[in-house]
Amino acid sequence: MQIVSDPRISSFLIKVTARCNLNCDYCYVFNHADQSWKSLPSAMSTDTQEAVATRIAEYVQEKKLDFVLVIFHGGEPLLLNSIRLVNFKRLIKDKVPQSTKVDFSIQTNGVLLKEDDLDLFQKEGITISLSLDGPKEANDLHRLTPKGNSSFDKVLEAYHLLQKYPKIFTGVIAVIDPVVSPRTLLEFFNELNPPALDLLLPDANYVKTPPKRNENPNLYTKWLIDAFDIWVENYSHIKIRFFDNLILSSYGYKPRTDSFGFGDISLLSIESDGSYHDLDVLKITQEGQSNLNKNVFNSSIAEVVQCEKINAHRKLLDIEGLCQKCQVCPVVSVCGGGSVPHRFDGTQFKNPTIYCNEMLSLITHVQHKVVLPGSTSLLKPATTVMKDQSPKIQIDIIKFSEAKKFNPDFDIIYKEWCEHNIREFKKAFEFIKADSFCSKETINFFERLEETQLKQISLYPSTHVWAKVINTRSKGLQFKDLDGNIISADGSYLEFIKDHMDTFKSPNINPNDLWLTKSFGSKVVLEDPSTLKKTQHIVQAALKIIREYKLEIYNEILLISPVIVLIKNHDGKENNFISFSDNMVPGALFVSILSKGKEASPYTIAESILHEHRHQKLYMLENSLKLVSSNLPYVSSPWKEDPRPVSALFHAVYVFHELYYYWAYVNKSATDTEEKDRAKTEVISTYEKLMNGIETLCNNQNLLPISKGLIDSYQKTLNLQRVSA
Ligand code: SF4
Ligand code: SF4
Repeated sequence: MQIVSDPRISSFLIKVTARCNLNCDYCYVFNHADQSWKSLPSAMSTDTQEAVATRIAEYVQEKKLDFVLVIFHGGEPLLLNSIRLVNFKRLIKDKVPQSTKVDFSIQTNGVLLKEDDLDLFQKEGITISLSLDGPKEANDLHRLTPKGNSSFDKVLEAYHLLQKYPKIFTGVIAVIDPVVSPRTLLEFFNELNPPALDLLLPDANYVKTPPKRNENPNLYTKWLIDAFDIWVENYSHIKIRFFDNLILSSYGYKPRTDSFGFGDISLLSIESDGSYHDLDVLKITQEGQSNLNKNVFNSSIAEVVQCEKINAHRKLLDIEGLCQKCQVCPVVSVCGGGSVPHRFDGTQFKNPTIYCNEMLSLITHVQHKVVLPGSTSLLKPATTVMKDQSPKIQIDIIKFSEAKKFNPDFDIIYKEWCEHNIREFKKAFEFIKADSFCSKETINFFERLEETQLKQISLYPSTHVWAKVINTRSKGLQFKDLDGNIISADGSYLEFIKDHMDTFKSPNINPNDLWLTKSFGSKVVLEDPSTLKKTQHIVQAALKIIREYKLEIYNEILLISPVIVLIKNHDGKENNFISFSDNMVPGALFVSILSKGKEASPYTIAESILHEHRHQKLYMLENSLKLVSSNLPYVSSPWKEDPRPVSALFHAVYVFHELYYYWAYVNKSATDTEEKDRAKTEVISTYEKLMNGIETLCNNQNLLPISKGLIDSYQKTLNLQRVSA
């Protein structure tokens, strides 16, 4: 299920100036469609700074954020001067609660940067990112002063100064000009050895197309592929976020960059007059596109992020908001339709990125031809991540799906699942051991574990996340949470397991274990301790309902879905209790128990638990067997407004098939009239949607015979056993 909530803003891009000492011809602030900079104050006044700091502090407090990033941006932020920047930083820091970590960063062209500034920034822990397009001949193509002079020498001087401050120097941003060969560019940056390099395509869309591409349609494609190959072969030690993200997403991980489309809005811009803006690069589209028409003096951040423009932007970051071409594109899971400003056609954004051909070619190239640095295996395309059906595994899926006491078909899949998890845990343990990240005592403890204890630990939801992060790290890659922050992992979690093994029980409600929610970043917020205490009895009552409904399904939950985590509901709608589970944390069921302050009934919580458990059971099966040959083209789903991947509809039918019988049971057994009435409505609507979903799947060529068998059997039994409601 989707998590429906307001966007969680974790980065604030503060335009402390609206002027610059350079005039780069591609600059989205000064030289694109939106010319609003002309009417903005050249620098942010102290009154506006005060109001900005107050709004950030208010938002952080309201949303209980542990971490936010504040980026001082412009124009050129150093036009404000370093002392005023530091004062602004202190103002924000003083207002934000101490429990929230605030990182500060400056994006500068470097021309004004002096050693004194860097001493000050280092003392204050403000990090610096520098804009530099490459060697002199590259930089002088675009990054000139207003009088047309080169900025290169001063910027290079700034670069060498920054090298003396490695603690605060985070990296370089360079805009690509395909006239400069990728080898020249990478050789230059290899010499400089920056901590990280961000390569950006020049901002363009269907109104203002990529420079020089009309004359040479393959210009950027060839450049990107050549650059990637040269980087892999010679310079993969340079951290290039664009390529790193491409590799990660080709492995099925979520990319976290504006160059790729999926995700959620996590950044808010604030201009020098205090006006709130969406992603600042939207200024390349049309006058006023990024302006949210509210400011720090009249609106809170929480209020402004609920506005129509932000909602419309969020939709474009989801598969359902993409144009038809992108929705059926074989690399959509990696590309996501591309950067939103690059999709604009003069009136709207429902288009592939103007760099569609480049993205398609580059992603396909990476997926099929390139060996991962440090790895011996070929990259697997994200669209074929599912496993092939092993001829060794032969089960009756209809029997597997039933919850019953003796179920050899279930046992086969469960055994495979256990072996898979044990293997992954052992791999992570060996990596940690080899790197001696934990104490000898802990290593001895894990080496002496009995097989049953090893199984218990490996199958635990949070252990699965930890092992996945460690095993990703062992490949030299990084794992990021939904906010885009890198998840760090070491042996300390093993110490935690050693000390808490007795709490790894089932059912385990709200265990105190940070690894259960780490991968979601700030997107998932745990319920308050007081609510947990107050509502424990509802969860217990829900489990009792499930036991009475079907003891076997209750036992199955104990076995493969041992953890229930109560989360806050950000939906804001009345009587809408969200729940979700995610294959990243298998076995953990995330359930909300309050909606607008009102408690859920035990029947609702029982439904949420059953719903998410069914997803878990199917994820477990998908670990061993392929169920659909392809997810494309998408199909219509009676539970969603927009088309869905074939496997998502299969999941929905699988889940709601059980819920149909559950609601029929509630309709018969509940004594409360309100619950009875609700159950009756659910039975009728679930039946209709189920039959609709089943029919769609029956006609779908991509369903493999094993899945088809299950859907056919559902159709037959539902036809025969329509429950009277
Ligand atoms: S230095 Fe940055 S803000 Fe200034 S003109 Fe160049 S791109 Fe724009
Ligand atoms: S490659 Fe093109 S069609 Fe495919 S998702 Fe990206 S923009 Fe859309």
